[in-house]
Amino acid sequence: MKVHGRMTVFPIMPARINRLYELAYNLWWSWHPEARALYSTLDPDLWDNVGHNPVRFLSEVQPERLEAAANEAGYLQRYDTILSNFDAYMHPAAHGTWFSRTYPELSDSVIAYFSAEFGLHESLPIYSGGLGILSGDHCKEASDLGLPFVGVGFLYPQGYFRQSITREGVQEAAYDKLHFSEAPAIPACDANGNEIMITVELPGRHIHAKVWKVQVGRIPLYLMDTDVAPNAPPDRELSARLYGGDREMRISQEIVLGIGGVRALRALGISPAAWHLNEGHAAFLNLERCRELVAAGLSFNQAREAVAANSLFTTHTPVPAGNDTFSYDLVDKYFGSYWGQLGLTRDQFMEVAREDHGWGPTYGMTVLALRLTGQHNGVSELHGAVSRKMWQFLWPGIDAEEVPIEYITNGVHTPSWISEEMNALFKRYLGEDWEERVDDAELWNRLSDIPDEELWKTHLQRKEALIDFTRRHLKGQHLRLGEGAVQITEFEHMLDSNALLIGFARRFATYKRATLIFRDPERLHRLLNNPEHPVQIIFAGKAHPADEPGKALIEQVYRFSRSDAFRGKVIFLENYDIDMARYLVSGTDLWLNNPIRPHEASGTSGQKAALNGQPNCSILDGWWAEGYNGKNGWAIGEEREYHLRSRNSVREAD
Ligand SMILES: *Cc1c(COP(=O)(O)O)cnc(C)c1O
Repeated sequence: MKVHGRMTVFPIMPARINRLYELAYNLWWSWHPEARALYSTLDPDLWDNVGHNPVRFLSEVQPERLEAAANEAGYLQRYDTILSNFDAYMHPAAHGTWFSRTYPELSDSVIAYFSAEFGLHESLPIYSGGLGILSGDHCKEASDLGLPFVGVGFLYPQGYFRQSITREGVQEAAYDKLHFSEAPAIPACDANGNEIMITVELPGRHIHAKVWKVQVGRIPLYLMDTDVAPNAPPDRELSARLYGGDREMRISQEIVLGIGGVRALRALGISPAAWHLNEGHAAFLNLERCRELVAAGLSFNQAREAVAANSLFTTHTPVPAGNDTFSYDLVDKYFGSYWGQLGLTRDQFMEVAREDHGWGPTYGMTVLALRLTGQHNGVSELHGAVSRKMWQFLWPGIDAEEVPIEYITNGVHTPSWISEEMNALFKRYLGEDWEERVDDAELWNRLSDIPDEELWKTHLQRKEALIDFTRRHLKGQHLRLGEGAVQITEFEHMLDSNALLIGFARRFATYKRATLIFRDPERLHRLLNNPEHPVQIIFAGKAHPADEPGKALIEQVYRFSRSDAFRGKVIFLENYDIDMARYLVSGTDLWLNNPIRPHEASGTSGQKAALNGQPNCSILDGWWAEGYNGKNGWAIGEEREYHLRSRNSVREAD
């Protein structure tokens, strides 16, 4: 297989275990630890060196290791069990799936799910934060439930950035080339077996995108890539990075995602029965669907009604500035030849997505999405209320409560986020099939059957695993900075498993207020150094490379972590990713979240922590306003309702 000028050569695989290839190309392995172990146990160091990517792993592993495994009874037994579980999952004959049992008549009604990012696994860095993790979890859950579902997005050749922190605490961004021949992706083909290439029009040129397929359990994820030969060099860079570049690059990417995404599905012969826009980035897809219907003879208004009838939109951003908008100049440039195909004048076209907050009209992607979809939802109860208020102007004369934006609180994909140890404990006390019954309240009553000592013992295993991970990570981080062997030994004993360990990891967006706990450093110092009850805090997270205030927060936390006063008590781990998140949400003792209310639309890391038995200490924002019941953690502040009021950082810090 030759892709991007680079060959991936696999060693000769013993026939007895040659389905390791097949398994590597289905991300099912990513949420089955025993399947991951089929690779990692062959060569644990190599597994780490290749970033837990089984495709790369198989291309680099020593043939002797494969040979040895093919002759080892224990390995073969694991291999056979896992592949038979995999086959049973992929071909659920007897019982079918939840969806096929519940909606047998809808098995051919495909749901298309569009998102600019998908956070599936650390080895596929096409996500930046919560939005992407949600999309990834959504795909995995759709697979588990047996939904007829396809995902549509981008395969960014450079993905999102790798973060490193300088000695001064400055975030640096590095973009690693993702060689698709080393990713679990294959070219998507049409009915005749031809590789699919779609085109969209940008000012003065056509640009092409190749369509790749990543298999996520039972569902395919189609990812577009503009780094292909017919495109001019700047266009080849178009999909290079997630959230990179300027407004022109952003609108171009969104045209490829929305318009190109529809064309990709058409080329694949897929006619979705429902179209789901995860955030506004893909909203051009609805224009493209209107264009198809207008070409078939409908008026724009008829087309728009037909399109809205089977499409839905999830909004994620409770701050106006976070919602994508484009200037009219840019829209003129990019859509000047498009609105005519919709049967619209320029003014009519602009009106569809018009948004004006007092500094002139702009073309808003959230407005476009709300106007052209029939169902809309926010991502928590509170965020639903905030969104109704925020977009009320689109429904003049209607009270905020009546604005048609519902809410569906975000969730997480249980098997991806529960630790192996906690899962084993739950299996013992809740039953082998507990993961299939997470929506059964009775199941959770049985949690109290788990003896405290066992729960604690399991938690301590994860805490020690996190401490070990942290020490290794810090050593690597500081060796890279050129520190000598003596300094590095500092990290070998860092963190005490007998002291309370607080976790704070998420994107360093300013509203998340990472430094709030440092408001009174002397008081914090006293708390952390309490002789009876010492406390330690681990921080991690990336700031968007263009977010200077966010980067300044990283610098502040980092400087605290290296100061004499807080060294060893406050830790900053660079390059937060899914792998690190798995350690943190299962290994700290308390999960802290203190955003400016109500800016955290949902938040999901706290749900991952709760799943692993960790209490949350959080502002009553996002999901926690619903999740907190007075006994399962702590609330910072008292308000659950949404009022516009002044920010109370001082009070909340106390
Ligand atoms: C869960 C997760 C997020 C989202 O966390 P929030 O608490 O919603 O900010 C972001 N990044 C990674 C790597 C995650 O695993």
